[in-house]
Amino acid sequence: GRMLDPGSTDDERRVEAALRPRRLDDFPGQQRVRDQLGLVLEAARRRQAPPDHVLLSGPPGLGKTTLAMIIAGELEQPIRITSGPAIQHAGDLAAVLSSLVEGEVLFLDEIHRMSRPAEEMLYLAMEDFRVDVIVGKGPGATAIPLELPPFTVVGATTRAGLLPAPLRDRFGFTGHLDFYAAADLVTILTRNAELLGIEADEAGITQIASRSRGTPRIANRLLRRVRDWAQVHGQGRVDEAAARAALELFDVDALGLDRLDRAVLEALCTRFGGGPVGLSTLAVAVGEEPDTVETVAEPYLVREGFMVRTPRGRAASPTAWEHLGLAAPRDAAA
Ligand code: ADP
Repeated sequence: GRMLDPGSTDDERRVEAALRPRRLDDFPGQQRVRDQLGLVLEAARRRQAPPDHVLLSGPPGLGKTTLAMIIAGELEQPIRITSGPAIQHAGDLAAVLSSLVEGEVLFLDEIHRMSRPAEEMLYLAMEDFRVDVIVGKGPGATAIPLELPPFTVVGATTRAGLLPAPLRDRFGFTGHLDFYAAADLVTILTRNAELLGIEADEAGITQIASRSRGTPRIANRLLRRVRDWAQVHGQGRVDEAAARAALELFDVDALGLDRLDRAVLEALCTRFGGGPVGLSTLAVAVGEEPDTVETVAEPYLVREGFMVRTPRGRAASPTAWEHLGLAAPRDAAA
């Protein structure tokens, strides 16, 4: 897979589970979301009642699953983990809902990918703690209402905008996660190097942190690859030279852009004259799904000022031309 793919593989999920911070206080970065969430959880604790439902939005790999687990940990409640794509039929959701215990946290990853009937069942359950179980088929089918104990939904989405308003409105609190500052990634990497028994110095860690697209999942992965490089070619120590060599080997450029990022910028500049160009046309040009371009490459490119979104489509900024070593036409998007 792509080195900078913010999605995770199975192997990685095991390593990640071991590295997840368990308390809000041990979670570096996202200060604002942490403060807001801390308040919501503390108030719930004092009321001795489940908190409002929580929606976490932001690009992949920024800590939504981790925060969901922290929420359950802080509330001292069990957590049930499932995802939108895993719930295709309303019946799948009814089964999950009817087995929840009081106070339990239900984590729904990729909540924007649930089917419409499941979505409708979910927002009724969130509002009234009730599901209608349909018994029988056709004209003889009956809806039997089933009371649920109070519980807390923590939804995660890369696309808050795709959630239908009635569902979005059932969340009392929405936390928006943003890309991490390099300093926060340094904190995360230093702790993880220690946990994994990796010998690393500050220059090595800083080098990795500044080239991880502001994403902890990518930072953790690059740390392991630099460690590999250091074990094979060096003295096993993650230092600046090892970091530079390994990052080059894995195609991560000086600004932390990976192949997809660069392909998108290159297509924008060389095939579409800097744009603006529509998302799906751009996606076809780089051989990716529009969703991948929009949720993975674009947020970081926009945030770093390489790409701008205009009403007529995506456009390259002067920085993009410069980064690719190309001369920008005079009328390039400012
Ligand atoms: P998401 O659900 O948003 O895709 P995850 O919660 O699965 O992201 O996080 C991906 C990886 O990054 C995990 O290994 C997690 O431990 C790590 N991670 C994310 N945010 C933080 C953080 N603030 N501090 C430490 N590790 C983090």
